[in-house]
Amino acid sequence: MTYEARPDLAHIRMSNGLTSVFISVLSLAASALAETERERELAAWFASHDQGLFGLGVVGFDVSELPWSPSTFVREREFTLRVIEAAKARTGWERLGYAPREDWIQPCLDQLRAMVEALVVEDACRAGATAWSYGDRPEPLVLCPVHRVYQHEYGCVLCNDR
Ligand SMILES: [Zn+2]
Repeated sequence: MTYEARPDLAHIRMSNGLTSVFISVLSLAASALAETERERELAAWFASHDQGLFGLGVVGFDVSELPWSPSTFVREREFTLRVIEAAKARTGWERLGYAPREDWIQPCLDQLRAMVEALVVEDACRAGATAWSYGDRPEPLVLCPVHRVYQHEYGCVLCNDR
């Protein structure tokens, strides 16, 4: 996980296993907090980074790649920061089926928070940077009945992780 335009901010380096935990806890938190269609889309976007489907070690992202929209960027960044806080507060972790190593995952969430806090609209909304990297945006957005996570084009990231 990177913020390419800000090389002074440390990249987040994670094992494949920790990457799965990272994506899962963000997907759980975002799905729990999402109230608008845009917020549901952000939840599904996190979930689309599905190693069970796209392969180990390939699903990293740059914070500029979230499907930010210029007119609502400030609100979306605020939502994303709330999602990170909710993930840090273990929102939905009871549906993970395992207990993540907090001493590993919490520092990664702290690093992501620092990147998102630093993110500016000019970096987030560069022209042509709106396409999803992993599958297409699902239509409609649907929750996995088991995990209460918004599904990506090819199902639920937590179901695929088993
Ligand atoms: Zn599921």
